[in-house]
Amino acid sequence: MRAVGLHADVVVATSRVYQTTCTLVRSGGEAFCIDSPVFPDELEILPALAEQAGFTVVGLLATHADWDHLLGRYAFPEAPLGCAETTAGRLVNEPGAAQRALREFDESFYIERPRPLSLPSAQRLPVPGKLEVGDQELELQPAEGHTVDGMAVWAPWARVLVCGDYLSPVEIPMLNPGASISAYLATLARLEPLVEQADHVVPGHGETLDSARAAAILREDRAYLEDLLEHGAQAKLPLARRTAEMRKVHAENSALV
Ligand SMILES: [Zn+2]
Repeated sequence: MRAVGLHADVVVATSRVYQTTCTLVRSGGEAFCIDSPVFPDELEILPALAEQAGFTVVGLLATHADWDHLLGRYAFPEAPLGCAETTAGRLVNEPGAAQRALREFDESFYIERPRPLSLPSAQRLPVPGKLEVGDQELELQPAEGHTVDGMAVWAPWARVLVCGDYLSPVEIPMLNPGASISAYLATLARLEPLVEQADHVVPGHGETLDSARAAAILREDRAYLEDLLEHGAQAKLPLARRTAEMRKVHAENSALV
């Protein structure tokens, strides 16, 4: 796992699998842990990493309810989980879904966990809205379209945007069942002004981006989705993301359109 400081109050840890990101944000004496790394050893070392950097984690935030972003309880078993109303709704309406997906992943790689994933009922946060951390406020924006739920987190004092599974340099826009292109495009439009102001953009998967690179990915993603709406399977993938894996994702996207 790689950990990089983006600002005195923001550290990003990146998992060895899927380049899944976990962001620690602090102010005053308290910190939130947004999303999670994936492997057991990464989750085990996370509390020490946070403590050494002076981040006292008082709560977990999840950008959306996909299993690979929900593993923070393995690192901070006492911390409450906060998320968008849409995400809390998904956790209630799809009981056990995250646990099943985690088990499937673990079984395919022979991974053992110290205990099953426990997901206590999540605290529903106002989205759009603000969330206090120490002397500062995080701004929460709805971010739907990849899935039916989600939020992006903007830390204005640090000019860091944690956007969930959008603006990834390693994944094309991924539409899950029930998700919609129009909601995805609306999320991109909502993120655009924040991307312009950001010093750093942290996607759910992939390296941290500067403002110009995130804006370029945003334009590519918008172009791809518009092409997908019009031409379905014939749509062209963003040039830098035409891998075999992303062609599979594209085929799944096309089937949903
Ligand atoms: Zn993800």
